[in-house]
Amino acid sequence: MPTTWHVLGAGSLGTLWATRLARAGLPVRLVLRNEDRLQAYRAAGGLTLVEQGQAQCYPVPGETADQGEPIKRLLLACKAYDAEAAVSSVAHRLDAGAELILLQNGLGSQDAVANRVPLARCISASSTEGAFRDGDWRVVFAGHGYTWLGDPAHPVAPFWLDDLEAAGIPHEWSADILIRLWRKLALNCAINPLTVLHRCKNGGLQDHRCEVATLCAELTDLLEHCGQPAAAEDLQPEVERVIQATAANYSSMYQDVSHGRRTEISYLLGHACKVAQRHQVPVPHLQQLRQRLIVHLDNLGLPSD
Ligand code: NAP
Repeated sequence: MPTTWHVLGAGSLGTLWATRLARAGLPVRLVLRNEDRLQAYRAAGGLTLVEQGQAQCYPVPGETADQGEPIKRLLLACKAYDAEAAVSSVAHRLDAGAELILLQNGLGSQDAVANRVPLARCISASSTEGAFRDGDWRVVFAGHGYTWLGDPAHPVAPFWLDDLEAAGIPHEWSADILIRLWRKLALNCAINPLTVLHRCKNGGLQDHRCEVATLCAELTDLLEHCGQPAAAEDLQPEVERVIQATAANYSSMYQDVSHGRRTEISYLLGHACKVAQRHQVPVPHLQQLRQRLIVHLDNLGLPSD
């Protein structure tokens, strides 16, 4: 009997994973916030994935966090700021030796989750797949990509990667997942906040080269001093490459702010500043950037934590 995938979070990535796993005939259950959300989901009849303009509905069974069978495998597909509370809501259902796959961007939430459920195996993920919601229970698969998975505490790959293979979820087991997470965080810190403050697409940062270069220098210094030198290698040329390659795109943080949604600032720029302070690495420009972003978010009436 294959192990059930419990997917907590019926948002963009949760739906992208749940529908592909279900399509491969694997057992999947969706864990929803509360009874109201469960009733709304049941009324919709399932999760809809839109791929290349074609919409397909998958009737993945749903349940609330507080009731249901014990959970052996949990895909945590909420935002970083919701992760700890979300995992707490199902902690009483986690089987001894349960495995959690943490899809959150940035850093900080993974440790918070692991501390909350110390007996579970926590596998971190870093994904370049792209998806967005265009309605309740409906997600558009916007960008093909890859998901790297890894467990900093235990380098052996889990057997259930076969399920991802069967579901056509492009993935790779990474012995160095922390390097990937830090590298992505650094790229994000160098690009995303500036796109919000300058109100521009990624390509607009080509007019702010000095500012970007200063941030890259501080980020490189920080990574080298906090035990992540591999994540620092050639950071600035890569940031410039990403700015050029994604010139026509709005960053995820820009999109969050323009849609009036909470950002994951605390797990990106906020985490970088916190670690810099812990390691006593001076990062005045990153700190100033964080302060400017907080003021900007406050002025818009958006949460800045
Ligand atoms: P999202 O669309 O906002 O979905 C998050 C979902 O989590 C929402 O459906 C939310 O429910 C649910 N949720 C939050 N707390 C919950 C709880 N306690 N119980 C049950 N459900 C709960 O977010 P996303 O875009 O999928 O992003 C998830 C993570 O993946 C983020 O860290 C993001 O940065 C990262 N990521 C996303 C993409 C992408 O393309 N979307 C790509 C790479 C990485 P409600 O709807 O009820 O609020």
